[in-house]
Amino acid sequence: MSRSRLGWFSLSRNLFLLMAVAGSPALTLADETAPARDPKQPLNEAYSAKIKKYTTAPVFTSPLVDYLPASKNIPTPEVVLGDVSGAPGILPYAEDVYKYMRLLEKATPRVKVFSIGTTEEGREMIAVAVSSEENLKRLEENRARLAKLADPRTIKLEDAEADRLVAQSTPIYYITGTIHSPETGAPTALMELAYRLAVDDSPYIREIREGVITLITPVVEVDGRDRMVDLYRWHLAHPKDFYPPLIYWGKYVAHDNNRDAMGVTLKLTENVLNTYVNWKAQVLHDLHESVPYLYDNTAGDGPFNAWVDPILTDEWEMIGWRNVADMTKFGMPGVFTHGVFDTWSPGYLMFIAAMHNGISRLYETFGNGGADTQERSLDPADYSRTWWRQNPPYPKTLWSQRDNNNYEETGLLTSLHFFNENKRLFLKNFYLKAKRSITKPATEGPAAYVLPSDDPRLELQTELLQVLQKQHVEISRATSSFSVSLPARKIKKSPKKDDSKDPKEKEAESTTREFSAGSIIIRMDQPYSRIADALLDHQYWSPDDPQKTPYDDTGWTFGELFNVKVFRVTDPKVLNAAMERINEVKPAGGVQGEGAIFAINNSAEPALATLRYQLRDADMQAAEEPFESAGKKFNRGSLIIRNVARADFERAANETGLRAMALNSAPTVKTHPVRAARVAFVHTWLSTQTEGWWRQALDNLKIPYDYISTQTLARLDDLNSKYDVILFPPVGFNSSSTAIINGMPTAWGNPLPWKNTPETPNLVGKNDSTDDMRPGLGWQGVANLQSFVAKGGVLLTATDTSRFALSIGFGDSVTLGTAQKMNIVGSVLSTRLVDAASPIAYGYDEKLSAYCDNGPIFSLSSIAGGRGFRRLGGHSSSRPTGRGTADDPDFTPGRPGVEAPEEQTAELWEYPPVSDEQKRNGLRVIPPASRARIILRYADNKDLLVSGLLEGGDEIAQHPAVLDAPAGRGHVILFSINPVYRGETRGTYALVLNTILNFDSLDAGRAPAEK
Ligand SMILES: [Zn+2]
Repeated sequence: MSRSRLGWFSLSRNLFLLMAVAGSPALTLADETAPARDPKQPLNEAYSAKIKKYTTAPVFTSPLVDYLPASKNIPTPEVVLGDVSGAPGILPYAEDVYKYMRLLEKATPRVKVFSIGTTEEGREMIAVAVSSEENLKRLEENRARLAKLADPRTIKLEDAEADRLVAQSTPIYYITGTIHSPETGAPTALMELAYRLAVDDSPYIREIREGVITLITPVVEVDGRDRMVDLYRWHLAHPKDFYPPLIYWGKYVAHDNNRDAMGVTLKLTENVLNTYVNWKAQVLHDLHESVPYLYDNTAGDGPFNAWVDPILTDEWEMIGWRNVADMTKFGMPGVFTHGVFDTWSPGYLMFIAAMHNGISRLYETFGNGGADTQERSLDPADYSRTWWRQNPPYPKTLWSQRDNNNYEETGLLTSLHFFNENKRLFLKNFYLKAKRSITKPATEGPAAYVLPSDDPRLELQTELLQVLQKQHVEISRATSSFSVSLPARKIKKSPKKDDSKDPKEKEAESTTREFSAGSIIIRMDQPYSRIADALLDHQYWSPDDPQKTPYDDTGWTFGELFNVKVFRVTDPKVLNAAMERINEVKPAGGVQGEGAIFAINNSAEPALATLRYQLRDADMQAAEEPFESAGKKFNRGSLIIRNVARADFERAANETGLRAMALNSAPTVKTHPVRAARVAFVHTWLSTQTEGWWRQALDNLKIPYDYISTQTLARLDDLNSKYDVILFPPVGFNSSSTAIINGMPTAWGNPLPWKNTPETPNLVGKNDSTDDMRPGLGWQGVANLQSFVAKGGVLLTATDTSRFALSIGFGDSVTLGTAQKMNIVGSVLSTRLVDAASPIAYGYDEKLSAYCDNGPIFSLSSIAGGRGFRRLGGHSSSRPTGRGTADDPDFTPGRPGVEAPEEQTAELWEYPPVSDEQKRNGLRVIPPASRARIILRYADNKDLLVSGLLEGGDEIAQHPAVLDAPAGRGHVILFSINPVYRGETRGTYALVLNTILNFDSLDAGRAPAEK
């Protein structure tokens, strides 16, 4: 209650007036405007009649949307749709939605359309501003005022000046629709909403129009929208058939397009982020459809994101509960807030606002995934009455797209109205949140983050800075060296278990660290300090947290996942260091020295692979040992490059951000060729979401590959003639081995084509096609894969496809464990390098942070078909029951004592010793050369967690994290971590890229006895 104090306060203040209210279909406060139409404004009778017709029950509408006012010169959505918004059977393409918005723009000065960028496939994204003509005329003046509130440094943090600006400013409420393509209702709701806001003369709507600038992006995922409309048209043309599931949304990712607001790797995220920040909007309200009937998950459940201002969490509650109250008073069932969503991860599109001093909002309304009117049976979890859902939906509901549009529009209109009534409060909060972001160093801290100039991975550092720059974070570079004091790591004092003195338990002291000129400083006294802090800080999700089902990832620390050094500095002295603002972060590559041979130190930077493919004719060799040349130390795996003109090489080094040395003579170190492998990239027709992030990473790095499905794999019987490396990235949903092999059921039902037809002109885009999505890899595909590896090919798998590889017989020496209590939900874990000589590990240090989402748990076995642990359990370390003390030997009375031989043990990342008994006719004993090579292992349990949630970590601690399993003449690479994920894990990309670059030399550095 106290969190929504303001809302409740004004309610109680007016409570005694409540009874006097009359003339409104809903109970409103006496000084509030009734949500009712203006009886003097003529109705569009035909349109209003259709609204009524398509609404399946009177309770599924409201006095705000159960009619449409008429206009002589402003067209209704009907001119484009051929029917009213939400009519059955009608889903407009993005182009049609834009066409309508531009017709509105032409017909009224109350609407302006702005192009805000394009998608990966080149489609336009727009933002539509709707407000009074006066407001739209003065957009620039208003923007200038809002910009001052957004950056209080411009008014010297003076509250009085802020109040003056607040009084003069018109706030901006930004609404985004259809980021999730199967959630189809928002575009028609937003078309009609724009009409209402421009045309309706009822006092309720007029106040919104005059008081607020409503900004609308009707379609966020434009590529996916056009595919979804295609599929719906196919469904209408084949009404008796099953229709293909929407396997591709955008070019790269599906549902995860709403998890990109940290990495900002998708165009849609970048375009919405820039629009939000450049318009200086106060709210970002994202529309989804997955829950009956309207779940306002603005407030959500805990834990709340730890970096947002509490002012914002108060606003969430205030707006959310008020929204529920308003719609409940209309008699609309099933409107609720709080719910099961937690507000921890800042990856959601709406969180752009939360991290940039605005208000993030999100609706889940109820959609049918198309425009069919259908009888829907709800889950008891959806219609049960809970403390946060006092007016739940009905167990069975006849539901239409119009109902959905009614809920969306009613929710938005009541929100806009409440927002307008309280706009001074929200504008002042907007200023206060920005001000508190600027005063952060002096309040909660830290003062800054520092990225040192001596980081061996400056190219990755640049990539991290580019993410921050996309987030509109200000970045500075030290112009001279400076020193700050860093707090020492606190050593946790454990309650004394015994009376011995622990010498380590003395007070830790702080240290002074000097950073040289060129080091990067991210000051926290800037308006957007919170997003920088949220991305660079560590996360801790307690295993004891009452929230047991995190909604998304629990950890993301960007410095760790980019393998870049980041120092959190609380010492305010850092802000006095001499520094300059960097306006554009550019890679700082180049060539030093003279000579025709070039050497690049390997620091596991992804751009090395880009360089290999860019300089196709150059001779590149990888050093198998560290070496020194021209007074510089080079790591194992460093590249030695010949046969390339200096000018070409310099250009490539500059573009990729790699720093090279020119040498007169080649170093005398053992090398092997680094060739541009021919890569096949495999996807299923079950799900393309998780592999999409891999595809995006390879495309960004300009690494060519053939994108083929498991069906194609099954047709290619000589894979080796076309490919050196097959990447089989994680499948994600529906990833069991059975599903990968069998695909979808084919024993019944109809073929599910994924190809361009007259009904589906946009379906394929730049991705793959098939006549029937249903068949999977099949047994022929399995045989082809096995033959490919047997003949020397390299198959790379991760998480669920590693499980799959093991299930079809690859990796004799690796078994899969079953987790008992382990719970790792999208966390950052620490790994340790085991075999630094493996080419897969080139450029890495002893410790590496990696993204892990519940394993899998790999165990090692020396026995083919073995399970990797002993029959009596491997954990009984104490002596058997018998005579003497715990340290004494036992003896059997009546005969001389026999001392048992010392038990041989192995660590979890080592192969268990083979016993004498196992060696007897030891046909199953795996010779060392046939065992998987352990590249990385998970850290010890006490060091395992870097960020996020880790429960039952002992089940995966010390187990292998990356393995190179020989098979025939080839290799199967198995990842327990996911090395390529959401553009956030760039520090582990090189594990994949090293595999590609060294595909025909993966045994380099392998211990001689094992070869
Ligand atoms: Zn959604």
